[in-house]
Amino acid sequence: MKTPVTELRPFIALAANRNCSMARALEVLGDVWTFLLLRELFFGVKRFDAIQRNLGIARTSLSGRLGKLVEAGVLERSQYTERPPRFEYRLTPKGLALYPALVSLMRWGDQWAAVETGPPLLLTHKPCGHALELRLVCSHCRARVEPSDVEPEAGDGFDTQSEAPRNATRTHSNPALYLHLRACSVARALVIIGDRWSFQILRAAFFGVRRFEDFARLLNVARNVLTSRLGKLTAEGVFERRQYEARPPRFEYVLTKKGLAFYDSCLLLIQWGDEWIADSHGVPLHLRHRLCGEVFKAELVCGHCAEPVLAQEVEFQDGPGVRLL
Ligand SMILES: [Zn+2]
Ligand SMILES: [Zn+2]
Repeated sequence: MKTPVTELRPFIALAANRNCSMARALEVLGDVWTFLLLRELFFGVKRFDAIQRNLGIARTSLSGRLGKLVEAGVLERSQYTERPPRFEYRLTPKGLALYPALVSLMRWGDQWAAVETGPPLLLTHKPCGHALELRLVCSHCRARVEPSDVEPEAGDGFDTQSEAPRNATRTHSNPALYLHLRACSVARALVIIGDRWSFQILRAAFFGVRRFEDFARLLNVARNVLTSRLGKLTAEGVFERRQYEARPPRFEYVLTKKGLAFYDSCLLLIQWGDEWIADSHGVPLHLRHRLCGEVFKAELVCGHCAEPVLAQEVEFQDGPGVRLL
């Protein structure tokens, strides 16, 4: 059942939009393993066997995911030996464009999920030589983008009843498996926010949704799934649960500092979906920057030199939190 948009406050109404670029992005990216194998490619690992070794993932699962990414145009595959036939994978421009979202997820994991150990990886921005500090800025006025300064507006592709995923994503029974072998903050972040529903719940929260009933209607998600995801995100400190009515007892879910810090990654994923998986209807949502009044694109730049953060310009080395094997 579709939620009548008029019933809801304007921001919440926008979150009801089913033609969501984030949903489309997650449809391609799929699951935690997919993120982790992309991370391997960004680290320069190209060959099937090496990726398989580093992730400790079953060969069939890996080849299935690689195949899906090749089909989606995120990776290209080439053969490097004839006998036996062996293949390596490379990120296409569409794949490389995911870097800001991935590095922003890594940073969120560093700051909020690896506090005791320190970051497993230290990143250096090659053009300026400084430790990489990330800053999300407005493409128009170059000011730092904060969630409260962004106003979503309906774009051409708004509410065109799209192919948004309906199926629940399986979460792995043993999240520790994702942390297998290579300590990484992307993996840590994804253990907390590792499936499509959790991403979509967060996206709705950034548009101002707080109440269980609103989440349930807007996302069209089964109540038991929603209860479990909200419970997990609350236990992880992403949401704070507050009672707003005594009888009957009703609760709302408010983003904590940790939750709000996820905004950059969320925005970058939406934008990747807008740019690279657009359909004929156009962009579903425009973002207007209140500070300058313009419709903007979020750009991830280096906090020191203000240049865009590109995969090939970031160097990495082991940090204090690296796990030695
Ligand atoms: Zn601006
Ligand atoms: Zn720099």
